[in-house]
Amino acid sequence: MQIHGFNKTTLLDYPEHLAATIFLGHCNFRCPFCHNASLVLAPEKQPTIPAVDVINTLKERQGILEGVCITGGEPTLTHDLPDFIAQIKDLGLKVKLDTNGSNPLMLSYLLDQHLLDYVAMDIKNSKEQYNKTIGLSSSCMDQVIESISLLKQSNLPYEFRTTIVSEFHRMDDILSIGEWLHGSPAYYLQKFIDSGNLLQNGLHAASRETMLAYKEALKPHFKVVELRGMD
Ligand code: SF4
Repeated sequence: MQIHGFNKTTLLDYPEHLAATIFLGHCNFRCPFCHNASLVLAPEKQPTIPAVDVINTLKERQGILEGVCITGGEPTLTHDLPDFIAQIKDLGLKVKLDTNGSNPLMLSYLLDQHLLDYVAMDIKNSKEQYNKTIGLSSSCMDQVIESISLLKQSNLPYEFRTTIVSEFHRMDDILSIGEWLHGSPAYYLQKFIDSGNLLQNGLHAASRETMLAYKEALKPHFKVVELRGMD
């Protein structure tokens, strides 16, 4: 288990929970707007934190923390993820997984083993624009669609979310996403922020007006539609 980052306390990463966040490396997507480029492109060059140290710190914070968010990179590419999550669950902590939805096999296993309490899955764009938005020429739509289906069939709370980037998202895409995922419980539109560690430079956040217009367009399709990262 290669852990590349550990935030001991956050109120931002796990809805309505005081949580810690664990960052894993590697990703099979190449989203140009990815704000963790070094974790995606060269995880082997990033410092690591021993898993035992992370588990020990979580133990010390039992009674304070409610949950742990596991993010990346793409966490489902780490083969010993189930064993690691089991150790966290043994501490009585809830686990939220952030995923790009490209590994339904691992997602299915984690769901079957009751190792997850909440899943946040990225929807990168409309189906028509997916490959361009994830920076790949080959399609991953079958896997993404299967992951969506797994979440819809599960009894777990989950959300879909999209980081809106002016160069990639148009109102047509948002309307298409709404129709595609109609009836899902929660959709979050996230403001793009240039971390200075992107895969591609020269990208821009959408204006507040545009974000609000996208939110309105999605409202008929989901119980909850919210903006994240807005001032
Ligand atoms: S934004 Fe997420 S899915 Fe895209 S390259 Fe970065 S870590 Fe991977």
